Amino acid sequence: MTDALVLIDPAASTVEVADLGAPQLPVTDLSAHRGDGIFETVLVRIRDSVTVVSRDRHFTRFCASASALGLPDPEPELWSRGLDTVIAEVRAADPSLTEFGVRYALSRGTQNSDGTQSPRGWAFNVPVDEKITRARAHGISAVSLDRGYDAYLGSKAPWLLIGAKTLSYAVNQAAGRYAAEQGADEALFVSHDGVVLEGPTSNLIIRRGDRLLTPNPEAGLLSGTTQRLIFDHAGELGLNAEYADFGLSEVVEADGAWYVSSMRTAVSLNQLDGNPIPRDEELTAELQRLIMAG
Ligand code: PLP
Repeated sequence: MTDALVLIDPAASTVEVADLGAPQLPVTDLSAHRGDGIFETVLVRIRDSVTVVSRDRHFTRFCASASALGLPDPEPELWSRGLDTVIAEVRAADPSLTEFGVRYALSRGTQNSDGTQSPRGWAFNVPVDEKITRARAHGISAVSLDRGYDAYLGSKAPWLLIGAKTLSYAVNQAAGRYAAEQGADEALFVSHDGVVLEGPTSNLIIRRGDRLLTPNPEAGLLSGTTQRLIFDHAGELGLNAEYADFGLSEVVEADGAWYVSSMRTAVSLNQLDGNPIPRDEELTAELQRLIMAG
């Protein structure tokens, strides 16, 4: 897949096409050694027209993350232009592509000698790789891991940035590696006091009869655009959607369970801590269709 990168300068309100293979970020950038910044990853689908799935939901969350970190408010027109430029570059290089992701990020940037900072932004494309397509088709297994904090800690400790999508993903990556060492595809984070939270890069939805349940974002997780898209359309599938606190046994005893995220769409969770979970192929296909329609 072709690579496209745009640099987004919030101070100058400019978008510039750049070479993804060339060095772009000074090592002094605060995202590089502090993870101090925010990002989003959107799914782009191309059929007769271009669909950026949950485009507005992503941008709304991006702005909320900026606010949580005290970064300047992202300007809608500038970031929209950055996203559209990456999409146009990718399509120009490969008109046959039907699906890819675009990751856009805002870093706190470089600390200036007068104490001010110069935030910088960028956006580039990411592929829908074989791991994702396999998970969509066959589902995944997961192992539960203690997230290390109690549920609902976020409102008491806003500095933990629990609901923000920051560039500090080393813990999430480590959880994924730990899960892989246990022979599982994914981790499932559980609060220290036993409330199921989310995967390292996805939300969990379970089905119980005609109810779809997902952990409350306030419990200490990222509010997902995919989960919200599904909840906004659940009625069309004859289902009721609700936030709920539940533990691991409720996941294992559910009528179906899914990891949902922008790039995965909805993938069936077939096994948790070695316990099988019923696979609802029909609803999986319906959820994937619903999400891909944007
Ligand atoms: N939770 C975490 C920690 C994530 O990183 C992500 C996405 O990357 C999600 C949930 C799912 O969010 P979305 O559906 O917006 O992709």
